[in-house]
This record gives sequence, C-alpha cells and structure tokens, in this order.
Amino acid sequence: MSSQLLTLRHVGKIFASGTAALDGLDLQVGEAEFLSLLGPSGCGKSTALRIIAGLMQPSAGLVEWRGGRPADIGFVFQEPTLMPWARVWDNVYLPMRLRGFSRAAAAAQVDATLRLVGLDEFARAYPRELSGGMRMRVSIARALALKPPILLMDEPFAALDEITRLKLNDDLLRLKAELGTTI
Ligand code: ADP
Repeated sequence: MSSQLLTLRHVGKIFASGTAALDGLDLQVGEAEFLSLLGPSGCGKSTALRIIAGLMQPSAGLVEWRGGRPADIGFVFQEPTLMPWARVWDNVYLPMRLRGFSRAAAAAQVDATLRLVGLDEFARAYPRELSGGMRMRVSIARALALKPPILLMDEPFAALDEITRLKLNDDLLRLKAELGTTI
C-alpha cells in the first residue's frame, strides 16, 4: 500500500454554540489515495475537511502531515465560486497570481491545466457562457493550478445533474491517474 500522507488522531471539534461536530475522528490518508467520507448531512464531513485544510483548528486531537508540515492543498467547494467578471483563463490563473507568478510565467501551467480538464478551447470564455459542469471543471482546474499533492472536495458535484456528475466522476479518476493527486 501507499505511504501515509496525512493522519488524524482522535480529532474533535466543539463549536462555540456547544455543537460537537467531531468526536475522536481517526483517519489515515495514503499518498495518491482516493478517499470519500460518507455520512448524513450534519455528521461533520465539512468540518473534517476544513480542519485538514487548516481553515479551522480542532478542539482536540492532532493532524499529522508527512514531513511535519501541511502539504499544499487544492480545495473545491460545492459551488464553483468563480469570478464572474474574469475569463476562464484568469479564474484558473488566480492562485498562481496570488503566489506572485506573472501571467507569462504562469501561462504554460494554466494552459496545461485547462487542457487537462478539457477546457482549452474555452480559455477566453466567461463563466456565464459555460454549463454547470464546465464551470465545475474550471473550479477543479483552478484548484489544480499549483499542482497540489492533495485535492479536497466538499460535495463538489451535488448541485449538478446525474449525467454531468457521472462524467465528472470519470474525469476525476482520470486526473488522479495522470497527476497522482491524493483526493
Ligand atoms: P456535514 O458536512 O457532514 O454536513 P458539517 O461539518 O457541516 O456536516 O456540520 C457538522 C455539525 O456542526 C452540524 O451540526 C453543523 O450544524 C455544525 N456546524 C458546522 N459549522 C458550524 C459553525 N461554524 N458553528 C457552529 N456549528 C457548526
């Protein structure tokens, strides 16, 4: 089996409201693993993802990363959360821009990531010109732009129709095979 990328040890989260969202969660995530958390609404899946992403601190327990510090993370939300005023290319460029890459320095990587999700012909389109499934693929491309070793997804396809969902599931498995990303 693959080596462990990330281990959660007895992670708990109690919100200020008193809600105990997580209680003693143990989880091991292997390199290049595709892992799904399943459970009813409100059982703590998003909370676990946010803690893994470092967006939220646990109230108890530990998150241990291989190498002692968190890996770069890509995060895909249920809604694509694209910038409506910016073209597809610029939406995917955003995380690289925030890291200080010039457009010229980022161009090859943005183009390659758009090709990977099959949207290279739509680089100059605006989000409103795309279908829901295509917008989600832009969102995935944006999350992959910095080539993170781990991609966290919080019910990314929940708002899409069944056929699009099946197609994107296939796309994701192909991306994982091509990039070796842990998802
Ligand atoms: P899931 O993703 O499985 O639907 P969540 O992790 O979103 O579950 O929520 C787990 C529990 O924690 C729920 O009872 C939810 O209402 C509560 N919760 C989530 N976020 C907050 C918050 N910021 N403040 C207070 N309670 C929260």
